[in-house]
Amino acid sequence: MSQVSQRKKVVVVGGGWAGLGATYHLAKQGYDVTLLEAGAYPGGLVAGWKTAGGKSVEAGIHGFWYPYRNIFALINELEINPFTTWTRSSQYSPFGLEVESPIFQDLPRLPTPLGTFLYTQFQRLPFIDRLSALPLLYSLVDFDNSDEAWRRYDFVTARELFKQFGVSARLYKDAFEPMLLVGLFAPGEQCSAAATLGMLYYFILAHQHDFDVVWCRGTVGEQIFRPWVEKIAKAGGNILANRRVTDVIVEENRVTGVVCDDEVFTADAVIFSVGITGMKKIIANSSSLQSREEFRNVNNLGAIDVLAVRLWLDRKIHIPRPSNACFGFDDTTGWTFFDLNALHDEYRDEPGTVVEVDFYHANQFINLDNVEIIAIVQKYLKTCISEFGNAKVIDSSIIRLPQAVTHFAPGSYRNMLPAQTSFQNIFMSGDWIINRHGSWSQEKAFVTGLEAANLVITNLGGGELANILPIEEDEKHIQTLRDINRGFKLIGKSILPSFWLP
Ligand SMILES: Cc1cc2nc3c(=O)[nH]c(=O)nc-3n(C[C@H](O)[C@H](O)[C@H](O)COP(=O)(O)OP(=O)(O)OC[C@H]3O[C@@H](n4cnc5c(N)ncnc54)[C@H](O)[C@@H]3O)c2cc1C
Repeated sequence: MSQVSQRKKVVVVGGGWAGLGATYHLAKQGYDVTLLEAGAYPGGLVAGWKTAGGKSVEAGIHGFWYPYRNIFALINELEINPFTTWTRSSQYSPFGLEVESPIFQDLPRLPTPLGTFLYTQFQRLPFIDRLSALPLLYSLVDFDNSDEAWRRYDFVTARELFKQFGVSARLYKDAFEPMLLVGLFAPGEQCSAAATLGMLYYFILAHQHDFDVVWCRGTVGEQIFRPWVEKIAKAGGNILANRRVTDVIVEENRVTGVVCDDEVFTADAVIFSVGITGMKKIIANSSSLQSREEFRNVNNLGAIDVLAVRLWLDRKIHIPRPSNACFGFDDTTGWTFFDLNALHDEYRDEPGTVVEVDFYHANQFINLDNVEIIAIVQKYLKTCISEFGNAKVIDSSIIRLPQAVTHFAPGSYRNMLPAQTSFQNIFMSGDWIINRHGSWSQEKAFVTGLEAANLVITNLGGGELANILPIEEDEKHIQTLRDINRGFKLIGKSILPSFWLP
């Protein structure tokens, strides 16, 4: 651990994966770091807490996929053991079981994407529909996560992309749209094709094992954030809850303080680690931030409603797989259900069933009252597994998360912020920030936190940069196809004028 001379003050705003990641690294490097979190607990979208009755709940269940290398490295560093073993998952539609996924790393490794196509057990989807995905491979090779690729694909909707590449209507409805509703929280016509390709490649297609997933054996808050926050405090980091930041104090091109109602925290550098909705509120209140076009443009971004329901049922129900994604119940909403008796230590020996049901893009449900929501959940669960029809609800928790998760809408890329802002010492992090790492969701949020910490260190001097693990490199045949594609593009550019829309 290196000590920073005169202990430079860094204020981190927002205590999710991004904010805690930045705070932890800077505290280890000897900076005087204060994290200001608006909520009662750190954790952000992943926070967990106990109900008045002492039962653990959280804002939706979170999976940790095979490529989450930096989070897995953090878990090793913290010397904790929060995860289940790799789990298999299923997909249901109103017609019953549709898909079962194996544990891909246990099967003989095939060049991507063959393993994904051959080992996934589709119960009804005809082979011809699956084959119609093949032409889409071109766009996966063409989309290399560069700024140029994002600008080319971001204006197109996912639906148009799939249509353009000849994906069958059934494959789109039964496979791709469900993945979008769960992975990007929105239906295809509302998702950027760039985000779609980036997300599908990272979670599913880059390597056969990428879709393998583990879950926490309790709330992420309890299993990961509690020990992590203790470690941050030991390293000298100061985490303050119930502090909602409202503005920054700027002198010339540098921020000198962060305003939290009537408190001011002086700062040599500031990292924002808040979601889009939180950032829009801060900008709306801050004339300094509004004076810059890049911050004004954040108002063009949007976020999506999510609903997290946990039910305690009076009897044990056999749920074949612990994690399940469902589609076809509502046109614009995806949902998942999880067998918490199987996943969470706390619920393993419950006499009844504890099930978590999360709805993504839940606009039409979020304002219903609890009784109405529970009735819908029971009806849907019964459609997937008939035994749910006989069970009585003995307790429930309903968490509404309006405007909570990032909306990667078509055309949104140009309004997203990079980590380095036009202010000399304001840095951005979070799962919606532009970076080139290639990860998504929790892993991306954590990585952007480390990237922002590294920018602070470069700006203020005095510490060691965080070691950020890159994503696993492309398989050789994908690298070759990308090289050939780039070559053709360069030739094309040299002979054709840049006259058409990208
Ligand atoms: C139901 C659900 C399921 C999900 N499933 C998965 C999954 O399976 N796997 C996965 O990897 N990801 C999943 N995600 C996405 C994941 O939760 C996010 O990508 C990640 O948590 C984002 O972290 P973050 O640090 O960028 O932001 P956040 O977690 O949003 O943290 C931002 C923090 O900033 C605070 N804040 C806001 N405004 C202010 C202010 N003015 N002052 C101070 N603090 C402020 C907020 O209170 C919050 O704590 C899911 C999300 C949801 C909601």
